[in-house]
Amino acid sequence: LPELSALMETYGETPAITLKESHSYAADELASAITDGELVIYYQPKVAVTTGEVVGLEALVRWQHPVDGLVFPDQFIDLAEEHSMIDALTQVVLHTALQQIKQWQLAGLKLSIAINVSMDNLAALNFVDQVAQAALDIGIAPQDIVLEVTESRLMHDQRVALEVLTRLRLKRFRLSIDDFGTGHSSLTQLHDISFDELKIDKSFVHGAWHDETVRAIYDASLGVGKRLGMVVVAEGVEDQDDWDLLCHTNCDVAQGYFIARPMPAAAVNDWMTSWDERVRN
Ligand code: C2E
Ligand code: CA
Ligand code: CA
Ligand code: CA
Repeated sequence: LPELSALMETYGETPAITLKESHSYAADELASAITDGELVIYYQPKVAVTTGEVVGLEALVRWQHPVDGLVFPDQFIDLAEEHSMIDALTQVVLHTALQQIKQWQLAGLKLSIAINVSMDNLAALNFVDQVAQAALDIGIAPQDIVLEVTESRLMHDQRVALEVLTRLRLKRFRLSIDDFGTGHSSLTQLHDISFDELKIDKSFVHGAWHDETVRAIYDASLGVGKRLGMVVVAEGVEDQDDWDLLCHTNCDVAQGYFIARPMPAAAVNDWMTSWDERVRN
């Protein structure tokens, strides 16, 4: 079953579970999934637009459900946030992904790892120590860890969140503002913290060649990122036209199905080899 689910994602089939409504899982079922090791991490490459070099991998969590198969994060992240399980979930993702990236680094790959961080993770100062301790224990340089921050819900205590992000940055972790262009307080955040990276949301990337409105938001987001000296990543690069737009507009980094779908750790080596060949041709 795990293999089948992996294949389904690889070939873009929609798993049956997405037909279910969100919140169809009970909180205690998710809680035991987190502690029993049912969470698995898929990795999606980020590549430099000009050289094709793989600069890093983003960790994307899935739930390998014993009955339902591979369950996607939009089915359980909100649930985890609502039931105070997001800290436990993030710790599992962080430790698993850091240990995996360590293996690849030991094998000679120069890769950063991006972890998705929920606003709820930023509600307590000890998050800084948890991340720093994990990096120290596993032996990954903070510069190789990118924390992608999404504005999922209303922030409880903005001051604490700002303090957490500031402290992480002082410790040399890299901060990325995720889903840029969506939500209303993204611009406020930029004003208060210096992010290293800006990720333009996929809804303003795919199809931007062909849609004036989408293109306008893409251009504006890229402009903000460049102007503020950030690395600009475009997610949702799905076809040649999207890729050409990034080249044409000097976007720094690309991510999306055109390059690679999220994949299990075991598939990363083979993908690297095939990507190398694709870049050379
Ligand atoms: P995100 O961080 O914005 O991640 C991008 C999402 O778009 C991922 O969905 C990815 O699989 C998908 N994607 C990648 N390339 C393409 C493309 O070319 N076209 C399209 N249409 N989609 C693409 P996924 O993995 O289902 O994750 C959804 C969201 O769940 C993520 O959005 C992120 O906000 C959240 N998430 C995922 N993993 C974690 C995690 O470990 N912790 C937390 N707190 N949130 C997570
Ligand atoms: Ca992300
Ligand atoms: Ca996004
Ligand atoms: Ca998101």
